[in-house]
Amino acid sequence: MDKKVEHYDVIIIGGGAAGLTAGIYCGRARLNTLLIEKSLMGGLATYTSEIENYPGFPDGTDGHELMDLFHRQAKKFGVKFKGTAVQSVDFSGEEKIVETFRNRFVAKAVILTTGGKPRLTGALNEDIFLYDKGISFCATCDAAANTDKTVMVVGSGDSAIEEGIFLTKFATKVIVSVMHDEGIMDCNEIAKAAAMSNPKMEFIWNSTVHAYEGKERLETVVLKNTKTQELIPTPVDSCFLFIGYLPNTELFKDKIALTPRGNILVNDRMETNVAGVFAAGDVCEKFLKQVATAVGDGAIAGYSCEKYLAEGEVYEEQILNHGKPSLVYLYNGADATSRSYLQLMEAFGAKQPNIRVTCVDTYKSDGLARRLGAKDLPAIYYLEENKIKHFSQDISSSTLENIIQ
Ligand SMILES: Cc1cc2nc3c(=O)[nH]c(=O)nc-3n(C[C@H](O)[C@H](O)[C@H](O)COP(=O)(O)OP(=O)(O)OC[C@H]3O[C@@H](n4cnc5c(N)ncnc54)[C@H](O)[C@@H]3O)c2cc1C
Repeated sequence: MDKKVEHYDVIIIGGGAAGLTAGIYCGRARLNTLLIEKSLMGGLATYTSEIENYPGFPDGTDGHELMDLFHRQAKKFGVKFKGTAVQSVDFSGEEKIVETFRNRFVAKAVILTTGGKPRLTGALNEDIFLYDKGISFCATCDAAANTDKTVMVVGSGDSAIEEGIFLTKFATKVIVSVMHDEGIMDCNEIAKAAAMSNPKMEFIWNSTVHAYEGKERLETVVLKNTKTQELIPTPVDSCFLFIGYLPNTELFKDKIALTPRGNILVNDRMETNVAGVFAAGDVCEKFLKQVATAVGDGAIAGYSCEKYLAEGEVYEEQILNHGKPSLVYLYNGADATSRSYLQLMEAFGAKQPNIRVTCVDTYKSDGLARRLGAKDLPAIYYLEENKIKHFSQDISSSTLENIIQ
């Protein structure tokens, strides 16, 4: 089957908080933007009926309603949406290719916001009690709802134990299911000591989850002793699983830099290691995975993407020569010495009608400097047939004359 080809400025993969926010920024910047979401528009946040820590909602908000507002706002700014899974990507060329079952989408830039999913135990009935029914993955999100209740934490890594300690501020009892022998945990020693001396924490050693039970909601976690096979029914109000988080990055393996755990590595502009490919939200390597941080990331990714495309246009139109050699003076406008050479450059440009002379203030925007690979400034680059022929940091009339020989 021949796939239908469509062209966009930006394609966003994933319609959670990060993707929708990136969409709002790209759409508002008048970029022709497509957002592709394979399941529920709004992402993971739609799985919770109570978000209490997203600013602007003093009485809390329903995750579904919040994400619907994001979606409507992105639509208002002209973002187009497709409800299908991205099956493959190719970021090797200047144009980025994103393929779904029916389409081949081509874009100048891509923003990856595919989020991730918490690892499950695979125990009986787990799917019945997920999220609002009692099995949670986020103490920051759901601790307050467990005030004066009994909760279970599954896992003994840093996040399990640290989140367990956090839960003791709300719950009356935190029962921790640990698969190792008594006293052995996967977390750091400080967290271990704090947990072991916390009167609200209890440990069930050598245990894994066998089944979840309850009527409407989770009521009992049935643990199994890994040595004796004894079943241990444990009544709880909620169960928090902290046994790992799996980022949705299968598609991006060998295409962009990932951490050993599979999260996307980005810098503070949400740029990946591939030019024109940005990432935001839970899919990235980051400290706190929340709606508020996904929104911040999405805003940065959308803004960076817009800058990248604008700089790309300037680079195409002003720097690449289109038959005419190009001399570029890269300077820092905040630096007096750099500024003092501007007159020399402009005078030189006036004398050389066959050379396009461009002065770029990197203080305002350093994208062009990055495209030219400039590290130290001020610097002159001379390009012929779109290739850098000369580079110099000696800014003088004689250097300019020599360069164009
Ligand atoms: C039950 C629950 C309660 C939570 N409560 C809170 C809370 O109270 N406060 C808070 O701040 N945070 C909360 N969180 C965390 C919050 O939901 C996440 O941090 C946030 O949703 C991350 O947004 P995201 O856009 O990065 O990723 P996601 O929301 O995970 O969105 C990623 C999207 O990408 C899509 N996708 C993945 N692969 C593809 C593909 N190949 N093609 C197309 N689409 C794809 C997915 O379907 C998904 O919709 C909660 C999470 C859960 C699970």
